[in-house]
Amino acid sequence: MSDAHVYAVVNQKGGVGKTTTSVNLAAALALAGQRTLLIDLDPQGNATMGCGVDKRAAARTVYHVLLGLGEIANIRVRVERGGFDLLPANRELAGAEVELVDLERRESRLKSALASVRAEYDFVFIDCPPSLSLLTLNGLVAAQYVLIPMQCEYYALEGLSDLVGTIKRMRAHLNPALDIAGLVRTMYDARNTLAQQVSAQLEEHFGDKVYRTIVPRNVRLAEAPSYGTPAVVWDAESKGAQAYTELAREMLERATAATPA
Ligand code: ADP
Ligand code: MG
Repeated sequence: MSDAHVYAVVNQKGGVGKTTTSVNLAAALALAGQRTLLIDLDPQGNATMGCGVDKRAAARTVYHVLLGLGEIANIRVRVERGGFDLLPANRELAGAEVELVDLERRESRLKSALASVRAEYDFVFIDCPPSLSLLTLNGLVAAQYVLIPMQCEYYALEGLSDLVGTIKRMRAHLNPALDIAGLVRTMYDARNTLAQQVSAQLEEHFGDKVYRTIVPRNVRLAEAPSYGTPAVVWDAESKGAQAYTELAREMLERATAATPA
C-alpha cells in the first residue's frame, strides 16, 4: 500500500466498544503483517492501558504532540504484545481541549503531526473520546475514514444521526475527503429481539456501509485489558477475538480494493 489508511474510531456515546475495536483491530492487522499505529485520543487512556502501557508512567503522550511540544516519532512506543506502535494518552490530555482553543489551526494539529510518520504505516487507528469535542474533531480531520462501533439498541440510531450530521459538516468545511468506512455492530447478543431489529434497520439504511462481521458480546474481550494485552493476542481462539480477526480481514479486503495497484 502506498499511503496509510487512517481511521477515526468514533461514537459520541461511551461504552460502545470504540477502544476494544481500536486495540483489537490494530493487533489483528499487525498479525496480518500490516504496519500499524494506534493513537489514543481519549484522556481516559484506556487504549494505552489495554496495550500494556502504564498511562501514569507515560511522560510524553499525544498531548505533547497536539500542543507542538514533541513529535510522534519520538513519543510513540512499541506494543510488544501486539506488534504495533502506540501513541499513548493519559489524563493530561483533558487539558489540551482548553489549551488548544487559543492555538492556530486547532482542529488540524493531529493531522499535521501525523504527516511526518504516516508513510511508515499501512493502517492508523485513532481511538476517539466519547464526545464530539475538539479532540474528536482532530481525529476526524486527520482521518480519511470514520469507523463507527455501535451497540444495536434503541437509542443507537438516534445518536447515529448526530454523528452523520457532524461528518457531513466536516466534509463541507474541514475535511472534504472524509468518508464513513463502516459501522461495526459490537457486543451483539443474537438472542435479543431488539438487537436483531436494530441490526436489520442498520443494514437497510446503511447498506454495505455496515460491516458483515458482527462482534458478539464476549467476556474475553472485557477481560483482556486487565492483562494489558489485546484479546486477539491473549486468547485468539475466543469468539470475540475471532470476530475482530475476521473484521480486520474484511477491512483489509476493502482497503486493498480501494487502493490502485
Ligand atoms: P468505548 O471505548 O466506546 O467507551 P470500550 O471498548 O471501552 O468502549 O467498551 C466498554 C466496556 O465494554 C469495556 O469494559 C469493554 O471491555 C467491554 N466490551 C467491549 N466490547 C465488548 C464485547 N464485545 N463483549 C463484552 N464486553 C465488551
Ligand atoms: Mg474508549
